[in-house]
Amino acid sequence: MRLETQAIHSGFDADPATRALAVPIHQTAAYAFESADHAAALFDLEVEGFRYSRISNPTVDVLEKRVAAMEGGVGALATGSGQAALYYAVSCVADHGGNIVSTPQLYGTTHTLFAYVLPRQGIEVRFAEDASPEAIEKLIDRNTRAVFSETVGNPAGNICDIGALAEVAHRNGVPLIVDNTVASPVLLRPIEHGADVVVHSLTKFMGGHGTTLGGIIVDGGRFPWGEQAERFPQFNLPDESYHGLVYREHFGERAYIARCRSVFQRTMGAVLAPMSAFLLIQGIETVALRVERHVENGRKVADFLRAHPLVEWINYAGHADSPHYALAQKYLGGRATSLMTFGVKGGMEAGKLFYDRLNLIKRVVNIGDVKSLACHPASTTHRQMPPDVQLKAGVRPETIRLSIGIEHIDDILADLDQALAATAVAASAVAAE
Ligand SMILES: *Cc1c(COP(=O)(O)O)cnc(C)c1O
Repeated sequence: MRLETQAIHSGFDADPATRALAVPIHQTAAYAFESADHAAALFDLEVEGFRYSRISNPTVDVLEKRVAAMEGGVGALATGSGQAALYYAVSCVADHGGNIVSTPQLYGTTHTLFAYVLPRQGIEVRFAEDASPEAIEKLIDRNTRAVFSETVGNPAGNICDIGALAEVAHRNGVPLIVDNTVASPVLLRPIEHGADVVVHSLTKFMGGHGTTLGGIIVDGGRFPWGEQAERFPQFNLPDESYHGLVYREHFGERAYIARCRSVFQRTMGAVLAPMSAFLLIQGIETVALRVERHVENGRKVADFLRAHPLVEWINYAGHADSPHYALAQKYLGGRATSLMTFGVKGGMEAGKLFYDRLNLIKRVVNIGDVKSLACHPASTTHRQMPPDVQLKAGVRPETIRLSIGIEHIDDILADLDQALAATAVAASAVAAE
């Protein structure tokens, strides 16, 4: 099946009990065992089935199978948010004493997790100078457990050379973990380019309607944990917490995602609620159509802003002079995402004036909604970072990040146009004072 079809059919045919065609919401904590022996077989992971909804749930299971199919992975684990997925994804490979090598352009909260939270747990995160394979490779040593990058940086809009990063990671015996939230599998399937693990915030383009938080980890299933037994004993040696189970032997190519579930989801429990899974499944059914319109509207907005006399600069990977243009051709098939950043002439103050005058386009810190959204990172998502770190993450004081929705393009452009005109009037009034 192709992605458009997988988004509608993968992981579910019709409900075996009732023949319901829509995915049922299994609002249950637990599942009745047939007998003590049946329960024991489930707990020994000898038979497949459900025990307790912190481990797995039939509605969530459909979502996991669907996204795994769309990303070309062997299995997936859904979580209560994208941040929980990122935390599990990294923790599953890196323990105390290990390190992760990351590109510097990251989502604000991921940067906080990496720069402040993980180090206090003994996991060092090394930020490369830039996203080049050379800068990454320089920082890898025998304690490195993974290379991490966002496929398309939020909000920097940089596109990472996933193929080259995978090569560097693999040459050094570690997996490549990527956050594919901004691109979505509609535009980019990182596993096809060598990534080993793909993480999403399903809250964004996948769910698509700004109603539901969720995250997911997809396992590509190809990383040779057995060849790196010294670096990754957790997949190769008996797990005391699971009566001596060896993940690689028991789960084969699914060792990583199985351990994410039975160690991290089981003991930390950032579960996705069945109702949330249902809502996300509804969103995913239309993700291919929506992203097409997001991309088309994004291009028209980028062209409009670029031509506007009050716009100082615009960062949009679909413009031929963008430093990200070549990689957008290579990895996104030329379909730059509907995320872009730009600066209004007049710096921070003009940027804020413009931001406050938007009407249709909403001032929020979300992306990937059907609604057009705008964010001023320096006063919100990246506020906790020192200015030099903000700059490295692609955030200037005046930067406005747009996530263009699927409203009619004329209405989006009209709102931008009136906000820019009002900014010019307000700025000249300030200048006259
Ligand atoms: C939003 C976002 C996250 C965090 O996801 P939540 O669902 O909000 O926890 C992580 N990475 C990227 C790139 C994001 O845009």
